[in-house]
This record gives sequence, structure tokens and C-alpha cells, in this order.
Amino acid sequence: MTKKQEMYFNGDDCRFCNGMCCRYVTIDIEKEPRSEDRFDEIIWWLFNPNIKILKNGHFWSILVMGKCDNLNESNKCTIYEARPDLCRDYPPEEDGCHFDSIKRLEGKIFNTAEELLEYLAIERKKEWAKKRLENIKFEQTKAKK
Ligand code: SF4
Ligand code: SF4
Repeated sequence: MTKKQEMYFNGDDCRFCNGMCCRYVTIDIEKEPRSEDRFDEIIWWLFNPNIKILKNGHFWSILVMGKCDNLNESNKCTIYEARPDLCRDYPPEEDGCHFDSIKRLEGKIFNTAEELLEYLAIERKKEWAKKRLENIKFEQTKAKK
């Protein structure tokens, strides 16, 4: 299985971060997913190595991983004075770094379908998630033989 891009950042000081906020885009997921049908699609997205899922309270978003073309090797924006408003307004003053706020708000980032299914099976006690996780692991083991 392809290894997903690691996320690392230092929410206290951008100088020690690899410009994590310039290495993905987010797409909000409308309405909090609750049913197996809704999660089925999210599981499918998570099988793609460029996708992670962020859950922050009741808000869920898709993180599409990929570095902005304008970020250089020193993790600096090469069009700084002409950057989009969205970049200018980030990080929002009240929240600070997005990733730092995820830590503070105890948000979760699901890197893989297995991580999401484990969360649903253990923390949300979803039997269907437990079965799906077992089935995926069984198939993965079979494929390795
Ligand atoms: S705002 Fe956060 S993610 Fe962006 S460069 Fe600063 S520390 Fe890194
Ligand atoms: S335009 Fe500049 S600030 Fe905005 S995401 Fe790209 S590199 Fe980062």
C-alpha cells in the first residue's frame, strides 16, 4: 500500500514548519456523516493516497494533499505579495495555526480508511465498521499470500 505524505508542523512558530498549510487544500463535507452509506464514500476517498479526512467537532472536511506550485524548496511563497486572499487571511487570528487548533480542539485527522473504521468501531461502537475493518484486513492478508 502507498505510504501517505506525513504531516508535520510546529503550530507555535511558522519558521519551524515545512509550510504545511501550503501542502493541501480542503473541501468541506456537507452535513455531518452518520450513516454507513455516507461513510462508504469517505472510505473510498481514503483509499486514495492523496486524501485525508479531517474531523473537527461536527465539521468534516476532505484534505487533498499536494504542494502548492508557489511554495519553494525553502518553504517560502514565491508570489507572496500576489498571494490569494485566502492565504493572506491564514492563519485566522482568533484560531492561530489550523493544525495547532486541531490539537487544541482535539480534532482528528484520518490518514487511512482503516483509521476511520477503527474510530467508528471503537469510539462510536458501529458494528458495521468493525465488520468492514475485519473484511479489509482479511482481504489484505489474502493478497499478500
Ligand atoms: S500557519 Fe501553521 S501550518 Fe502554516 S506555516 Fe505556520 S505553523 Fe505551519
Ligand atoms: S500561494 Fe503562497 S501562501 Fe498561498 S498556498 Fe501557495 S505558497 Fe502558500
